[in-house]
Amino acid sequence: MDLSRKEFIKLTGLAVGSFSTGIDVGYCYQKSGGAVLEYKIRQLDLVHTWTIARNSSDVKNNVFVKFEKDGVIGIGEAAPNVRYNETPESTAETIQKAIPLFEKTNPWHYVDLGYAIQDIVEEQTAAKCALDIALIDWITKKLNIPLYKFLGLDKTKTPLTTFSIGIDKPEIMQQKIKEAEKYPILKIKVGKENDREILEAVREVTDKPLRVDANEGWKIKEEALEKIKWLETMNVEFIEQPMPSTMLEETRWLRDRVNIPIIADEAVKSASDIPKLAYAYDGINIKLMKSGGIQEALRMIWMARSLGMKIMLGCMIESSVAISAAAHLSPLVDYADLDGNLLIANDPFKGSTVEKGKVILPDGPGLGITGTF
Ligand code: MG
Repeated sequence: MDLSRKEFIKLTGLAVGSFSTGIDVGYCYQKSGGAVLEYKIRQLDLVHTWTIARNSSDVKNNVFVKFEKDGVIGIGEAAPNVRYNETPESTAETIQKAIPLFEKTNPWHYVDLGYAIQDIVEEQTAAKCALDIALIDWITKKLNIPLYKFLGLDKTKTPLTTFSIGIDKPEIMQQKIKEAEKYPILKIKVGKENDREILEAVREVTDKPLRVDANEGWKIKEEALEKIKWLETMNVEFIEQPMPSTMLEETRWLRDRVNIPIIADEAVKSASDIPKLAYAYDGINIKLMKSGGIQEALRMIWMARSLGMKIMLGCMIESSVAISAAAHLSPLVDYADLDGNLLIANDPFKGSTVEKGKVILPDGPGLGITGTF
């Protein structure tokens, strides 16, 4: 839902500096102690209507954060998700609650500040993510090194990313697959009634490896088993979240009977969720919007590795800000699904790119993104 300017001012209760036209929906800032924290809701237009098992959309309203101090600007982004009770409004409210933390904590103590951000509210991880990305972008820009270097990573070790084909009529999905010719691995969304029809239509036009995401779409374990057994015959590499996140026992039952890995997505948000999932899943899908940012995503990577689990790095519909932040972590993971920015027609930023499916990291300081907040 979009906010009018008046509603936005009422909601935030903050000084409103200016209101831009174009894709900006709401804008707000607070200045204190030489630091400025601003946030802005922007409408991102999608190249195609995006449909998954849960819902369908043509535009996405994301919230962008700018943290400015000592002449350096850090940028962050939140992609609020209804699955996690997030809206642009709830995200803006959460960011507002964090403003005092940025006023009183030295940003160089970014670990302390990161934990303080995590503690402001119980959920609303997309908002926390925007703040954490802006903070880490600021730190690494101030140090004048790219984030991947700060993390000690080799930029040549980025994985291939999948390109996602949203649920649509089979003939339109076939058209989308043709448009996705340059991507060597495709991700297909299933979980509706016509799974077989969709997969068969996909296989008519491509023999590329497929990764399949059911988004909790199969509610009965025997049905999920039958579908996965069939997917195994269709050159599918793994299945993401076949059953609802609450069905841990059923997922364990399923894992004992199938040959392809089962990856948790909706079942995992932060590091503390992971130990119990090792019982039922082969791997986890980490998304910055679920973890609440870069710092928690790193804790998740170490936790999953220590339990011998596979790691996938995924995304929501996000601009190049949040996608680039995730891309800098990608040398640490097995599978990448970082195509959210490729689904947007009016991305306000540029950052990491994809060449022949491989994630390419920018070399500028921080996230290495360019564009105007
Ligand atoms: Mg998923």
